[in-house]
Amino acid sequence: MNIIEINNLTLGFNCACGFCEALHNVSFNLKKGELHALVGESGCGKTISAMSILRLLPKNAKITGGEIYYNGQDLLKLPEREMNKIRGAKIALIPQDPMTSLNPLYTIENQLLEVIKIHQGLQGREARDKAIEALEQVQIPCPELRMKSYPHEFSGGMKQRAIIAMALACNAEVIIADEPTTALDVTIQAQIMNLLKNIKEKQGTSILLITHDLALVKENADRISVMYSGDIVESGNNTEFFACPKHPYSIALLNSLPANNKGRLETISGQPPNIQQKINGCKFHPRCKECMEICSQKDPTETAISRTHSAKCFLLKK
Ligand code: SF4
Repeated sequence: MNIIEINNLTLGFNCACGFCEALHNVSFNLKKGELHALVGESGCGKTISAMSILRLLPKNAKITGGEIYYNGQDLLKLPEREMNKIRGAKIALIPQDPMTSLNPLYTIENQLLEVIKIHQGLQGREARDKAIEALEQVQIPCPELRMKSYPHEFSGGMKQRAIIAMALACNAEVIIADEPTTALDVTIQAQIMNLLKNIKEKQGTSILLITHDLALVKENADRISVMYSGDIVESGNNTEFFACPKHPYSIALLNSLPANNKGRLETISGQPPNIQQKINGCKFHPRCKECMEICSQKDPTETAISRTHSAKCFLLKK
């Protein structure tokens, strides 16, 4: 069952040079209790797709088409007041940088209690017990004592745990984790990913993980969608994606992993296009080793490889 479903989402920005499209007919879903990873290079539209779910977009952004459903409700049609009841309470966000996501002027306790009071309606002792329970779940030692600390007294990993605790305290059904481990060292990265996996398994929380770290995805994700230049170019479950990637961009990303290179590290030539660049045909064609004549003339449509695996590439149409 899909808890989040995005259909043909199209979004752009009003820039100095006019309206620039950043997402084009993006469709993907998040099933109940799964960890779905959105991967791709920086600037390909992963974060803006996720922020569209929460309707937390920059002022110059405009959604020009598509639907975003949460448990069957079209979020794009909800009044702002209703949307506020969903943000944080039902769909929580773990932002990219734990260092700047907490308010440095308030203690961890203040910040946890605020979300518990607003989203759970709890007060006093009840709210405090909920905060302690959430910090215990994310393995903060001596939570009663540590919650009195200010964010600067927490390490990077502990700050990220405190943010995850806020999602847990509100019993969020969906967690959007936007590069949750980028600012952390490798051992803490593993601890945070284990924590997210435990939450998924024990509480059935659905997690949308945004990352460019394919090694992390291989170990943790149930399903993978690869984004390139504002479009999903391949989607499949973990086994089929890593055993048999089909889109040349996915193959190039996997080939550039150190673990897949014996000699010189392979790279993908060129840069992803910026949103002001207009590219005809397949957006990946200027960088694609397999590029054919048709690739610069037409946009490839989706081809189903199996019931759960699909990709957009003319090579699959042969
Ligand atoms: Fe490469 Fe053509 Fe496939 Fe695009 S459609 S990925 S350019 S082969």
